[in-house]
Amino acid sequence: MVPAARRQKMASSAPSLSEPLLQSEKQPAAAAAAKSTRLSILPNFTQAKGKGHTRQSIFYGVDEAWAQYESKLQNHAITDHEIMTLKNSQPDMDGTKKGVEAVGKALGIHTNADGKSEKGKRAFPTPNKPDPMPPELAFLFTKITTEQMMYLWNIYTLIFVGQTAWVVGYFLMLKFGLDWYIATGIFGIIFIELMIQNVYCLHDVMHGATFPPYNWQNYITHPWADVMSLPYEDIVMEHQRHHASTVDLLIHGEFGWDPANWLYTLAELSWLTVPLVPVWHWLGANDTGSVFACLWWSQFPDSGTGGKCNKAFWKKWFTRRVQHNVWLWCLWGSVWLLGTRPLGRDLSEGWRFMFTVLFFSRAGFAISWMFIANFNHSHFWNEYLANDPERSNPLLHTVMAYILGGKHRWNEMLFHDLHHAFPNAVGTLSQRGRFHGWKKVNDACREVLRRGLWKDGHEANTEEGIKMKKLQDRRSVNVGKAPTKGGK
Ligand SMILES: [Zn+2]
Ligand SMILES: [Zn+2]
Repeated sequence: MVPAARRQKMASSAPSLSEPLLQSEKQPAAAAAAKSTRLSILPNFTQAKGKGHTRQSIFYGVDEAWAQYESKLQNHAITDHEIMTLKNSQPDMDGTKKGVEAVGKALGIHTNADGKSEKGKRAFPTPNKPDPMPPELAFLFTKITTEQMMYLWNIYTLIFVGQTAWVVGYFLMLKFGLDWYIATGIFGIIFIELMIQNVYCLHDVMHGATFPPYNWQNYITHPWADVMSLPYEDIVMEHQRHHASTVDLLIHGEFGWDPANWLYTLAELSWLTVPLVPVWHWLGANDTGSVFACLWWSQFPDSGTGGKCNKAFWKKWFTRRVQHNVWLWCLWGSVWLLGTRPLGRDLSEGWRFMFTVLFFSRAGFAISWMFIANFNHSHFWNEYLANDPERSNPLLHTVMAYILGGKHRWNEMLFHDLHHAFPNAVGTLSQRGRFHGWKKVNDACREVLRRGLWKDGHEANTEEGIKMKKLQDRRSVNVGKAPTKGGK
């Protein structure tokens, strides 16, 4: 058991491996602002306090797990240096300012010889982090605590348990003779919603709690997405690549290859190809799908010097990929089997049950990724948001928030530009909303936008860039029109 005093010390001294390196968040006011009141899923800390016990006196093991997690985070800095390199290559991180050299297609920032991007004709920009930090914004830029990281992974585990139990629930509905259409309808709607929450939680942990407390949790992040997919660490890598390459939402791949790019192609080609976007997602072209896995595997890791095989390939990445996919086949194989003899069907008929489950799981992942990737990075949506429709059309926002599982999730759709300017220092708005409530996050984001996302002179200078800047300016003025409430 680790004494509380030592644990406290470890918490404050542990390197911020999955966290921002911009450390104004260590200010006491900021730490107080980050204090969470929503961690009931953890072993009753608050209840224990209420009863006058200290944590370790009644919950032997919690501190131990905590300490183990923190030492695990330290080890990841060494074993997962590729992830750390890419994290450091994002606008709000020190790496980009220190000129950290990372070579190859998958790592680093890519510019022309003059140090400027081709698409924006600017150097890698620096976001306009409030300085001095006003107390009401501090919570948004405060480092997520170890306790919050564990909470996120607990929620994630619950989502996986819920998904698995719901497949069994569907089986039981069929087993006990419920009409196929009714059973499938009930199953489908709830399963899709579980998948939507899955994607949000995946995005939340990637930005706030990159490494899970337990190794087995690497396998529960998206096994229901498809019958073949990227392992969790690969997804973290490709999403970091997305952030390192695209810093302004409409200038795709400005500082290097953006793996999300092929998701935008059909949407941007013409209005006629827009209906194909959901099909493309459903077929597995999004981050958690099988087609996307093939794309990423063909690009990462970069080959070693002289075109040789990358040293880490066989030992690390290949092994992870095999382990992850063998697990997927066991899981989906079990679903196949569940749809055979237990339902009185032949072994060869297992596909009937399995494909129905797969149809809805892919639909759920397709819906969420379309919102996160396509909507957020589309001209249509950015034009729309620049006029601050949230205030003028609250009904639409309420309806959409319900579909995505709450206004905490919807904030993710409203402030993706802010998320791209501060992928580490702020992380995801959905995650911040879990601990601070959607309204406080919404108000704080508006204030950050009002101040302007980038430091003066860091905007792109091309035609595309000027258009982007105009939209950002319009948005900045519009969100600042009404006084922000709450957030205190
Ligand atoms: Zn992100
Ligand atoms: Zn994005």
